[in-house]
Amino acid sequence: MRVVAVPVLQDNYSYLIVDEDERVAAVVDCAEVEPVLQAARAEGVTVTTVLSTHHHYDHVGGNEELAGKIPVRVYGNADDSARIPKLTDGVREGDAVRFGRLQAEVLFIPAHTSGHIAYHFPREKAVFTGDTMFAAGCGRLFEGDPAQMMKSLAKIDALPEDTRVYCGHEYTVKNLEFAHMLEPSNAAIADKLAWAKARRAQGQTTVPSTIGSERATNPFLRTGSPELRDSVRRRIPSVGEDDVLIFGGTRKLKDDF
Ligand SMILES: [Zn+2]
Repeated sequence: MRVVAVPVLQDNYSYLIVDEDERVAAVVDCAEVEPVLQAARAEGVTVTTVLSTHHHYDHVGGNEELAGKIPVRVYGNADDSARIPKLTDGVREGDAVRFGRLQAEVLFIPAHTSGHIAYHFPREKAVFTGDTMFAAGCGRLFEGDPAQMMKSLAKIDALPEDTRVYCGHEYTVKNLEFAHMLEPSNAAIADKLAWAKARRAQGQTTVPSTIGSERATNPFLRTGSPELRDSVRRRIPSVGEDDVLIFGGTRKLKDDF
């Protein structure tokens, strides 16, 4: 498996997942058609499959145009069929998705939207997390609450630590600046922030991350950190010692950051 990050719109990523044996590819979150097809041409592969993580326009905005141009199967949450354009294959938690010789497993991870799913490739150790887990961040809670997002993130956090994490936006620098504010003495955060700034200055991506890196740097996986808890409590005293309230407080602080 080869993964090509395709920058689209302002700061979104589509991903081309290439099966190098059969020369076919799936596109994760087809927001724009032309950049994706261009990447496929450059790779010399045929796009056969769309893997939609959630219904937001900046993730599915190209489904209709792509399906009008080439024959594709479009996967997405079966319970979100009214909101995922051109859906052909509705899936749910635990379902298998196959294209070429590659196989993904569906994880149901609601909260950013009520129908959000991830695509996990256990053999290749890669997970496509859309707008649920970002490098050093998580998505806004548009259709869910803090407890639900914690549960969804815990599902991703349970994957092996060398699993690569491909997320839906290039938000890494801003996310790490926020993480550094909450945990100023966390060296992993400071180091990754310096690295991410250098990468962006050179016009390079900061994806993929890994589960191990996220455990060390992502505030939304680190509500157990005493330094983070103190930082959040200093700004929002009412969160007390409750994990869900501290998580919700962290999300609120990030919304305003
Ligand atoms: Zn979204």
